Amino acid sequence: MLRITELSLPLDHPPQALREAIVRRLGIADEALLSCTVFKRSYDARKKNSEISFVYIVDLELRDEAQVLQRLADDRHVMPAPDTRYHPLPRVQGSITERPVIVGFGPCGLFAALILAQAGLCPIVLERGRDVRRRTKDTWALWRQQVLTPESNVQFGEGGAGLFSDGKLYSQIKDPHFYGRKVMEEFVKAGAPAEILYVSKPHIGTFRLTGVVAAMREQIITLGGEVRFESRVSELLLEDGRVQGVQLENGESIHSHHVVLALGHSSRDTFRMLHRQGVFVEAKPFAIGFRIEHPQSMIDRARLGKYAGHPELGAADYKLVHHAVNGRAVYSFCMCPGGTVVAATSEPERVVTNGMSQYSRNERNANAGIVVGIEPRQDFPDGPLAGIALQEQLESHAFVLGGSNYCAPGQQVGDFLRGKASRAFTGVQPSYKPGVTPTDLASALPGYAIEAIREALPAFARQIRGFDREDAVLTGVETRTSSPVRITRDKETLQSLNTQGLYPAGEGAGYAGGILSAGVDGIRVGEAVARSLLATSSGRGQ
Ligand SMILES: Cc1cc2nc3c(=O)[nH]c(=O)nc-3n(C[C@H](O)[C@H](O)[C@H](O)COP(=O)(O)OP(=O)(O)OC[C@H]3O[C@@H](n4cnc5c(N)ncnc54)[C@H](O)[C@@H]3O)c2cc1C
Repeated sequence: MLRITELSLPLDHPPQALREAIVRRLGIADEALLSCTVFKRSYDARKKNSEISFVYIVDLELRDEAQVLQRLADDRHVMPAPDTRYHPLPRVQGSITERPVIVGFGPCGLFAALILAQAGLCPIVLERGRDVRRRTKDTWALWRQQVLTPESNVQFGEGGAGLFSDGKLYSQIKDPHFYGRKVMEEFVKAGAPAEILYVSKPHIGTFRLTGVVAAMREQIITLGGEVRFESRVSELLLEDGRVQGVQLENGESIHSHHVVLALGHSSRDTFRMLHRQGVFVEAKPFAIGFRIEHPQSMIDRARLGKYAGHPELGAADYKLVHHAVNGRAVYSFCMCPGGTVVAATSEPERVVTNGMSQYSRNERNANAGIVVGIEPRQDFPDGPLAGIALQEQLESHAFVLGGSNYCAPGQQVGDFLRGKASRAFTGVQPSYKPGVTPTDLASALPGYAIEAIREALPAFARQIRGFDREDAVLTGVETRTSSPVRITRDKETLQSLNTQGLYPAGEGAGYAGGILSAGVDGIRVGEAVARSLLATSSGRGQ
């Protein structure tokens, strides 16, 4: 297999143009090209007003690869293709005496369970929320009727926090074993569009993701795994610094020496339980801010110029950073092109924002978090759980500012910059449901964060014209950008620093920051658990 990179073609090229370009570039006869698979397709829209074209990385099978490689030895864009296949663990034969337990069925728990199920190790998954179908109903009840179900909502339930999301599937993590590829391939097998395997910024969108997650659950069960919903883990069973199993809220105990904690960032009661039981937990940095909404057409024009609205490019995204004079970094977070702002609380009498899109990304507004990085030493120094307390305080205050009925507090950007309360939304209409109450957001965040965001918005407008327009809408508060704690683990064994057999994983443990990276971490931890189980006689097949 041979790889060719930096192959550039116009946006509107016919399908056969790719093959023609490869043959031309390599100087070979058409019949010498046995197969070609697009590994990646991207476009570069960073330089304004320049032509935009697709840039391909393609993997090829040739009749005489060695000869082509030798002839093009000086061409740094032609090389042997790396092996990106997933190499599964050997499947256990016969019965096993100990089943691993996975707490949480978000992307991290899902992939840990899948890897263990594929290895024949029959995992038991415990998820506090409900299955996707019932969870979807519960979540809509908050958005439409202001009724929150604390155990089944945007954060909790099958599929985890990313179920109602844009389903963006990219990440900047180092992935030397190409586990990200495995995540994508499993998603495609379960019904995701095949293009996620090669487009540079793939996304699935909320509705498709729900089907994918349900199909993957069925696969885990077919392979001998078990998935239990409405099963909140309320205690760890510990003995001499080693985990013996877990206890559910209903008092049931499940015994295992291998417990994966894939909790996500919102399971505050569980973080508190871990701390109380002596599991090593430390505070970690995260970010706080607002969601901002603009017309998507404005973002498309600013990013894509004359290509705005081009069907091959879809709705444009952005990524922005500003270093404020007060030393704070302000950045855009989880940008959702053509999407909506969503109510993302899991707790009564609190308001939290986030964003989601459908696969089509064809809603009127673009939205993104505009958030300020905060860190334990400077901003919440009072112990490992102080970040949680800060989040709770901001979310409770946002509830009150919004009218104490799950509406979110909002403000037009012009008013926010002038320090004056908004009375109405005169242009861009906020998309957050159940609704947005116009107000003054100055008290919604600590002063340093307000100051930094006030400085950042005009700076962002120098990159995206209109970013600070009078009628753009800010909705508060965005507090759950990542976990406020790290459940620190050993780099080699991936087990908790002080609790043997406990495998903290994914976003809640501080080892992932998105769907893809959580899935990748789930694979790593699933493999570590499988190896440990296979190495002990208790887990070996008969
Ligand atoms: C609205 C929204 C939009 C997002 N959009 C994107 C996006 O487009 N792209 C992207 O990459 N990321 C996105 N994210 C972030 C992404 O969802 C998370 O990074 C990812 O889901 C983390 O995966 P995880 O498996 O580590 O944790 P989670 O997905 O949070 O899953 C944890 C699971 O554990 C369960 N759980 C917690 N405690 C217990 C307990 N004690 N007992 C039993 N079960 C428990 C929870 O109910 C939950 O289902 C979004 C998040 C939200 C909220």
